[in-house]
Amino acid sequence: MTETLQLGGLLFEVRRSERRKSLGLTVDRAGELVAHVPTGTSADELSRWVGRKLLWVHRKLALKEEALPKLQAPEYVSGEAFSYLGRRYRLKLVERQAQPLQFDGTRFTLRHDARPAEAHFRKWYIAAGADWLRRRAETLSARTSSTPRRVEVRDLGFRWGSCGRNGVVYFNWKVLQLPVPLADYVIAHELVHLHERHHGPEFWAALSRAMPDWQKRKAALAVKAKDYLVFGLRSFAGPACLRATA
Ligand SMILES: [Zn+2]
Repeated sequence: MTETLQLGGLLFEVRRSERRKSLGLTVDRAGELVAHVPTGTSADELSRWVGRKLLWVHRKLALKEEALPKLQAPEYVSGEAFSYLGRRYRLKLVERQAQPLQFDGTRFTLRHDARPAEAHFRKWYIAAGADWLRRRAETLSARTSSTPRRVEVRDLGFRWGSCGRNGVVYFNWKVLQLPVPLADYVIAHELVHLHERHHGPEFWAALSRAMPDWQKRKAALAVKAKDYLVFGLRSFAGPACLRATA
């Protein structure tokens, strides 16, 4: 069972160690917060110490957000590329067509009056991708030995995915922009959360059994995902962080 601490709107993973003499905090590349503490540190002492560091943590997180490439909002003009499962498809604006946004396997066509366009794209990604995500989750669940009760696709703000306590796993529709190996990482990650709630050693061990090269994929998600994202995630935690819902 992983120990966590919630303070100042942030979630810290607490790692205790016999070898540690003093308390320390790290903010990893994904924006995950870890408090490293000597084994005997009391909960009070820990939250007081972390409390004094909150300003520093917020500053670090703000710097991380600044360092991220700014995603420009799409302009929805002809020639603009949109990514689906890692492949880029061009957009063409048209005067007339039955549906506001259509896809013929080679390109997107958007009717001039289809505004706000993002809503039509979101609808399209969810309609086109929900089945894919469900099938993929089914395939990967054989490896993670955890079967979700249901797979839902929606807008999750700054999260790629999330695992509810009720056995339902949620994926951000924006995952569908990613190449399959990166989307698979997000899916496997959430499936492992079905039996390991927190990002403790047991979680990463289970993920390693299901997906031995997860580290490579996680790093690629943090670094390369932006190449595929026309629709980005909100907030610093965006390109990498996944958290289970409490
Ligand atoms: Zn997670």
